[in-house]
Amino acid sequence: MEDCIFCKIIKGEIPSEKVYEDEDILAFKDINPAAPIHVLIIPKKHIATLMDITPEDNELMTKIMNAVQKVAKIVGADEKGFRLIANCGPDSGQEVMHIHFHLLAGRKMGPKIVH
Ligand code: 5GP
Ligand code: ZN
Repeated sequence: MEDCIFCKIIKGEIPSEKVYEDEDILAFKDINPAAPIHVLIIPKKHIATLMDITPEDNELMTKIMNAVQKVAKIVGADEKGFRLIANCGPDSGQEVMHIHFHLLAGRKMGPKIVH
């Protein structure tokens, strides 16, 4: 998608600090980290919001969860744990309209689910 920041990151038009990449998935450090470790995990396929996922994407969604585990291991958060957040739509404050999962780690998370 032309005007999508994350599609530009996937294409290398905007630089990013990559943490993990495969054929379908990219994981990179959030530019404005909310925790010592803050990685965004995204599909290379442009899907605007969680509500735009279809059954056709089932395999891709599984691959994203596999990538979450891989990223957790890469950043050393697999044992101590992490928080995974996905915003969807206006009330959530979703800013980038390309689905992404925030992996937050490196500190004790508070009881409130915020980032
Ligand atoms: P949202 O609020 O949509 O769930 O989260 C979007 C996230 O993308 C924010 O945490 C923001 O810091 C991050 N972000 C926005 N633009 C860029 C960028 O150009 N590069 C990187 N690495 N992260 C970005
Ligand atoms: Zn996109």
